Amino acid sequence: SSEEGTGIGLVMSKRLVELMGGLIGVESTVGVGSVFWFELDSAAAPIHILNDSIPASGIRTPVQSRNNFHTLLYIEDNPANMRLVEQLIARRADMQLLTATDASLGIALAREKLPEVILMDINLPGISGIQAMKILRDDRLTAHIPVLAISANAMPGDIERGMKAGFSGYLTKPINVSEFMEALDSALLFAASNNSMN
Ligand code: MN
Repeated sequence: SSEEGTGIGLVMSKRLVELMGGLIGVESTVGVGSVFWFELDSAAAPIHILNDSIPASGIRTPVQSRNNFHTLLYIEDNPANMRLVEQLIARRADMQLLTATDASLGIALAREKLPEVILMDINLPGISGIQAMKILRDDRLTAHIPVLAISANAMPGDIERGMKAGFSGYLTKPINVSEFMEALDSALLFAASNNSMN
């Protein structure tokens, strides 16, 4: 194309590949084109990676409320993030997690089950997380439920836009376990104080 890059993508690719113990290379013919390649070792998925990394304080702080069992809903299309959150919530005896892989399913589930807190990915197929949050806000059944954004869009402008749009909180990916638990606990406290006012 006529667009010329800065070349920084290639530098980053080389660093990333080398950090993972891989090899990167290029074969180029003037006037014809170039083939860029890299090789990586295969590895098994780190299923139990969380077992040693969760601080004990983060897993034994159930929020007190009139009923001690909390229902959360997580709307997320990325299976890895979904598994991570499922593993985190499984450690909380006081929490039950409902999941949906797109916003339409999530909104239907929210209306039916009325979870105390909703965790919302922003980049979803079809209806975006921001649109979905607005739909939930405009529905009197679900308007009171705090919705926390969980997004890989981590620039200060993204976070500000998210908060302005009406999210109760904004967590960035990759998920930080203690931040995640703290945000969840404060959203649950908020939900509990909402309930006792109604
Ligand atoms: Mn997504």
